Amino acid sequence: MSDIKSMTLPEITALLQSTGEPAFRGKQVFRWLHRGVSSFDEMSDLPKALREKLKEHCTLTPPVLARKQVSRLDGTTKYLWEMADGNCIESVVMQYRHGNTICISSQVGCRMGCAFCASTIQGRVRNLTPGEMVDQVIFSQKDSGLPISNLVLMGIGEPLDNLDAVLKFLELLNHPDGLNMGMRHISLSTCGLVPGIDRLAELQLQLTLSVSLHAPDNETRSSIMPVNRAYPVEELFAACHRYFQKTGRRISFEYAMIDGVNDHDWQADLIAKQLRGMPGHVNLIPLNDVVESPLKPSRRIAAFQKRLEQHGITATVRRSLGGDIDASCGQLRRKAMKEQKGEIQPS
Ligand code: SAH
Repeated sequence: MSDIKSMTLPEITALLQSTGEPAFRGKQVFRWLHRGVSSFDEMSDLPKALREKLKEHCTLTPPVLARKQVSRLDGTTKYLWEMADGNCIESVVMQYRHGNTICISSQVGCRMGCAFCASTIQGRVRNLTPGEMVDQVIFSQKDSGLPISNLVLMGIGEPLDNLDAVLKFLELLNHPDGLNMGMRHISLSTCGLVPGIDRLAELQLQLTLSVSLHAPDNETRSSIMPVNRAYPVEELFAACHRYFQKTGRRISFEYAMIDGVNDHDWQADLIAKQLRGMPGHVNLIPLNDVVESPLKPSRRIAAFQKRLEQHGITATVRRSLGGDIDASCGQLRRKAMKEQKGEIQPS
């Protein structure tokens, strides 16, 4: 059985042709899939025999809405989707003046082990398929009724740890007969897997690369991000410089401000030094308090921002959305898992 939602248009066309169908059926099926049908029978202009053939050869298993939380503060909507195998993942729809943005997950769980992140607490269960990533966009859009124009790969998981599937997902998302989302409307965030950054650079995609920096020195970074032991900051920054040289695209650096850990002026100075020769943008994020973690939000965000700006670096402070709905990565999935095990009461 083929997972049809993960197949490209040429792949679907080839599959149909191999069963004696004319080529134009491929496009018809592809379009139906990306409009968000839940079964082959909803493809109403296909002959019944073809629908039966599709059922015989392909699986089509849309996610089930397991839970939904809408922020009373700003309308941010968080979805918990249950997939065919019972695993759950999160997507978040945020409303900005420049358009609606969805944040999607790329894996069930994560194996990167960052100390401040709820997604990684129980490790990685499995990778998501391209179809499961597309479905987060399609079904969140359908449920919310909001046209989604931008996408960030910043939910649960490390996209560069599932790069083949992510690249195929981008191809599907970008397709004119699918959701037709432009690469310039997409951001991909990584904790710093250097070989993945280099592979991405080779492809010269028009997307925005975000690097979760969180500390510019090895001692601090290794203490909060185990990935730094494999790819220390010198190697990470070298890869960022290569990426900029190859693509000409400015990298965005994510920096969650943690009290007494990464919020010292000398660390701002070190960021400036490492970025020399490359236009960087630093996005300062107020740390989301994760109950399981001893790390606390910094009170020096404004001072740190000023210090970076004195070095000529653009630094913005991320507006926090959905503060009332467990909106930071992995928190809703964690909560649902704990409730299932009876560790906490449902809210
Ligand atoms: N694995 C990828 C993408 C998912 S995490 C990455 O590491 O970039 C998306 C962003 O949220 C990352 O910058 C991550 O470091 C950050 N993040 C995780 N937990 C957070 C928390 N408690 N508060 C603030 N930012 C957090």
